[in-house]
Amino acid sequence: MNTVKRIDPRRPFVIAASGLRRITLGEARTADASDALSIGAPRAAHAPAPKPKRVCEAGKRRLLVVAHSDRGALDEHARQAVAAAAIVADTQTEVVLLVLGELTDDAAALGADKVVEWPALARPAFAPDRAVAAIGDCVAAFAPAHILMPDNATGDGDLGRRYAAQAKASIATHVVEIDAQHVGCYANGGRSFATRTWPDVILLDPEAVSAKLPFVGAGERLAPPASGTVTEFAQSGRYADRGTNQLDAAQVALEEADFIISAGNGVTDIAGFETLARALGAAVGASRVAVDNGHFTRDKQVGATGKTVNASVYIAFGISGAVQHLQGIKDCRHVIAVNLDAAAPIAKRANLTLIADAQATMAALTQAVEQAKQVRAAPIVAGAGTNLREGVAA
Ligand SMILES: Cc1cc2nc3c(=O)[nH]c(=O)nc-3n(C[C@H](O)[C@H](O)[C@H](O)COP(=O)(O)OP(=O)(O)OC[C@H]3O[C@@H](n4cnc5c(N)ncnc54)[C@H](O)[C@@H]3O)c2cc1C
Repeated sequence: MNTVKRIDPRRPFVIAASGLRRITLGEARTADASDALSIGAPRAAHAPAPKPKRVCEAGKRRLLVVAHSDRGALDEHARQAVAAAAIVADTQTEVVLLVLGELTDDAAALGADKVVEWPALARPAFAPDRAVAAIGDCVAAFAPAHILMPDNATGDGDLGRRYAAQAKASIATHVVEIDAQHVGCYANGGRSFATRTWPDVILLDPEAVSAKLPFVGAGERLAPPASGTVTEFAQSGRYADRGTNQLDAAQVALEEADFIISAGNGVTDIAGFETLARALGAAVGASRVAVDNGHFTRDKQVGATGKTVNASVYIAFGISGAVQHLQGIKDCRHVIAVNLDAAAPIAKRANLTLIADAQATMAALTQAVEQAKQVRAAPIVAGAGTNLREGVAA
């Protein structure tokens, strides 16, 4: 991918499996070892070659990574925390991943050797005591040397601090540098840099480590350790979960939207595009050309001089994928492109490219979504041949 990076002048590198990867303004992204397989190979992104398994003698030492999942997946920041553990782990060290929520991702590809999935502790339910107890149970079961977590504002950062306070563990927060012996973070409001040997708990800042690994872990799935502490907290009732509010996608700031459909110069049916956005419940984005043409307001522009978005799904209709646009979607998880031109640069970034007319695709998608909604909303009519108990036609 040929993107120009925005540089933090104090951290012009990320820690990758191949060592420090320097970011240089204006340069194409340097490929690390994990990319090597795709260089020169035709469209390798859709068919990645298998990676070797990391050499690890099981059981001698363990690192525990803890993170919440979102609808079965870890976000990029959480993946970076797992990768950090896998990068620094030596051949005697296993990476154990505790996922609070479901995990449908391939745990081995994330770099984890063992994974414990705890669906009952998924993020929508606010249950910090139970989550702290779950970490305690895993610490008792696996006796990890250290715990790594993403230092985010969506639960993990808070949880790591709670655990450290409760377990009287040493902790480093906002860690931006890490190697097998030391961690580093900014201190004094960013005026100085502090390093120390590994504490018990490490909360990692985003973008400090590359989540791309040239190897995979063992990915062995284990049941949560059954100590009963978590269930005990379930009954304590110290917190009342008041649920979550559903917001209309159009009300969500583009930077926060999880599902975005974006229109470029190849979209001529703007009304059809907006109808599709409403049908899908997606937020609306646009390329600069589409904004300059007056089809969208400036706050919808995605890219270097617009918004940087990090949606789970970003569908680009009729967008060529100029470098300035790609800069705005570098953190998106799944990019789907609809374009008449198979050679458009967006196709190199996209996980899936549909070589098709944007207008026809939008109309067909809207129809399919509406039909699916009608089927879902249709009442189950009792009558001959209908099994009411099962709720399906016999
Ligand atoms: C300093 C600077 C900053 C910039 N900042 C940004 C920015 O923040 N964001 C941004 O987006 N751009 C930015 N640009 C502009 C950027 O370089 C591109 O010009 C712009 O992104 C192109 O928009 P586009 O892909 O929609 O249009 P085009 O380049 O015209 O591409 C249209 C695409 O649609 C496809 N297409 C045409 N018809 C159809 C159809 N019927 N069905 C399906 N596909 C079709 C074409 O094959 C083509 O790939 C910036 C430029 C500069 C110089």
